[in-house]
Amino acid sequence: MTRQRLTVLGATGSIGASTLDVVARHPDRFEVLALTGHRRLDVLETQCRQHRPRFAVVGDAADAKYLAAALSGVGTEVLAGPAALEQVASLPEVDTVMAAIVGAAGLPPTLAAVRGGKKILLANKEALVMAGGIFMAEVARCGATLLPIDSEHNAVFQSLPHDFAGKLESSGVRQILLTASGGPFRTTPVERLADVTPDQACAHPNWAMGRKISVDSATMMNKGLEVIEAHWLFNAAPEQIEVVIHPQSVIHSLVQYVDGSVVAELGNPDMRTPIAHALAYPERIESGVASLDLFKVMHLDFEKADLARFPCLALAYRALAAGGNAPTVLNAANEVAVAAFLEGALPFLRIADVISNALDAVPPQTLADLDAVMQADADARSAARQAVGRYARSRG
Ligand code: NDP
Ligand code: MG
Repeated sequence: MTRQRLTVLGATGSIGASTLDVVARHPDRFEVLALTGHRRLDVLETQCRQHRPRFAVVGDAADAKYLAAALSGVGTEVLAGPAALEQVASLPEVDTVMAAIVGAAGLPPTLAAVRGGKKILLANKEALVMAGGIFMAEVARCGATLLPIDSEHNAVFQSLPHDFAGKLESSGVRQILLTASGGPFRTTPVERLADVTPDQACAHPNWAMGRKISVDSATMMNKGLEVIEAHWLFNAAPEQIEVVIHPQSVIHSLVQYVDGSVVAELGNPDMRTPIAHALAYPERIESGVASLDLFKVMHLDFEKADLARFPCLALAYRALAAGGNAPTVLNAANEVAVAAFLEGALPFLRIADVISNALDAVPPQTLADLDAVMQADADARSAARQAVGRYARSRG
């Protein structure tokens, strides 16, 4: 068997570590050509010692020098910076790229992988939210293969017909139902949300994830970003995507067909399942995840999403309906607001206000090209930083 040659963007993160866990179970199938990290050099060093990639990428030259010295004798060349991320994402020898950098920083290297015609395992939902139209057009133009890693979208992918060609109606699909756990604050009285701490917001009941996506899950902006992600991945209109609160996170999403059938994917909440699915697709491989024990699960519960409790979800539907640069603004403002919350500079309940402010402040525009995307991203970040600053001054 020829081995699949991989680049893992964001190897040092939660998805990156789960990816390498699956890869290590199948040395006959996978070979790691490049690993990238940003700040966690110790983690990257350990990963390089285990997987012996040809390249490792870090944030800047000083970190590269440090890591290169630590890895002397390992045979890994250490590179630095955004251009190096794009380089290892599009190496001619690479077959598959795991896109697992968090946030807007993941867009350029993921797009480089698309333009290299790679098989892309997409965890970095922010790339699709900020530049969905351009991204999907490039996937088609360059003949890249896009497989969703986000558990909900991976579940939808598994529940759609094998020959799904981007037309829900001709596949007999009525609706996509995205499940959401509701996060750590699903039942917390709203008045108590005013002073929740970053650690409380990051304590997700079912999934262990990076801090940014954990806060997104607590505000339910994560589900909002996923609605926009589903719109682009499956060519679904906003009214064809419904959010269903399902606290157990056992059903990872569902597809409702016109004949009344509902097809779903179920499993224990462990990202190694969608990662193994996409890595081996269309085959199936062991992922290390235990089989689902329905007798232990016992109950599957469902609720409607409460948009008053979770205004970020409503903002995401608003941005999707507005189109153009609105999703780009939503994503960038959310990144700024979440970072401010994690630094203790913004209360939890103000995250939605900062995003709403940015959506009002940045004039609507169509996105002709990537420059327009980056401009909208920059404008939104500056509007959001101003809103965070105004909040800090009003308090201080
Ligand atoms: P983590 O925070 O755990 O990891 C993020 C990764 O991105 C790390 O490798 C980090 O490097 C790297 N990184 C951060 N900033 C930069 C930058 N400016 N340039 C280059 N690399 C950078 O996040 P997760 O693994 O949880 O999430 C990754 C992506 O996958 C996100 O887009 C998230 O929405 C998505 N996702 C995650 C899920 C999960 O279960 N965790 C589920 C579904 C989607 P370092 O740590 O070395 O600084
Ligand atoms: Mg998800």
